[in-house]
Amino acid sequence: MSECEGRCEEEGGRPEKGDGEGGYRLDDLEILQTIGTGSFSRVVLCREGRSGAYGALKVLSVREVVRLKQVEHVKSERDILRQVNHPFIVQLRWCHKDSSFLYMLFEYVCGGELFSYLRNAGRFSASTGNFYATEIVSALEYLHSQSVVYRDLKPENLLLDQDGHLKITDFSFAKKLTDRTWTLCGTPEYLAPEIIQSKGHNKAVDWWALGVLIYEMLSGYPPFFDDNPFGIYEKILAAKVEWPRHLDPVAKDLVKKLLVQDRTKRLGNMKNGAEDVKRHRWFKGVDWHDVILRRLKPPIVPRVTYAGDATNFDEYEESDWQSAPPASETELQLFQDF
Ligand code: AMP
Repeated sequence: MSECEGRCEEEGGRPEKGDGEGGYRLDDLEILQTIGTGSFSRVVLCREGRSGAYGALKVLSVREVVRLKQVEHVKSERDILRQVNHPFIVQLRWCHKDSSFLYMLFEYVCGGELFSYLRNAGRFSASTGNFYATEIVSALEYLHSQSVVYRDLKPENLLLDQDGHLKITDFSFAKKLTDRTWTLCGTPEYLAPEIIQSKGHNKAVDWWALGVLIYEMLSGYPPFFDDNPFGIYEKILAAKVEWPRHLDPVAKDLVKKLLVQDRTKRLGNMKNGAEDVKRHRWFKGVDWHDVILRRLKPPIVPRVTYAGDATNFDEYEESDWQSAPPASETELQLFQDF
């Protein structure tokens, strides 16, 4: 058994959290119920025996992670989460592994997914959508400043905390851009377009996704949709968007500037970076300093009766996931440094 140190230990603010060292211990975590699932992971609400604090424990089957070739993604998720520290990004507290599972313990964000609130409401008013957009812009600007591209922006990955502020979760697709492309490959003037654009890894993908998200929040459905993925891809490439008549014209202008095919002309990805987005008219009057201090008033305050309330999450089948067979030595070797 081993554990990786979470951010708190690195900051020196809290004692070591290893087995038997006065910190977190797997044995002390009481598993309460599943609050989310992924293709090879499950997120369970848990309570720490000694402090009584609630947490969200992400449990990944080592065998499945290896089978689905997700080893590097999982390690990168862990590394990025340990590196980042931002009010709108979920906090990783501790990592651990045993012979069957990898564990990541997060703060518990009790308000549930923005997705549920959006589906319940149908669509959001311009001011509600604007509030969430400001917090996302603030988080994206921060991530990009840390050379991290998030790559999975969508309402399912945005959680509401007990006050109604956002927390971005699920960093399994996040990618740390190495400086190498820029520092080792020499003078920018000589770089090939594909290096500059490095398809899929450029921060421009997050600004595109923000355009999709703002559209979906204000319309109730995404700008490009179809019954099958190919239909969706075709629509994205054809860049044809139908604009609901009720859509706020200033928001529409912003979305249009984010949903630009040519990433060099996409708002957020030009020489002024996130500043261009923050200065757009739709955010007129927004004090970005207040945003990051969580001083804007959340439009939705989740119904939460106690810190461990899980009623804002869907219910999941509690299969006997804990009895998964152990991974082989070779599989475990891949996570020696986890
Ligand atoms: P993930 O595998 O990280 O995508 O998580 C799957 C689902 O679990 C998310 O969509 C959330 O509904 C839930 N979840 C993940 N992390 C947390 C957290 N820290 N607090 C509360 N719910 C979470």
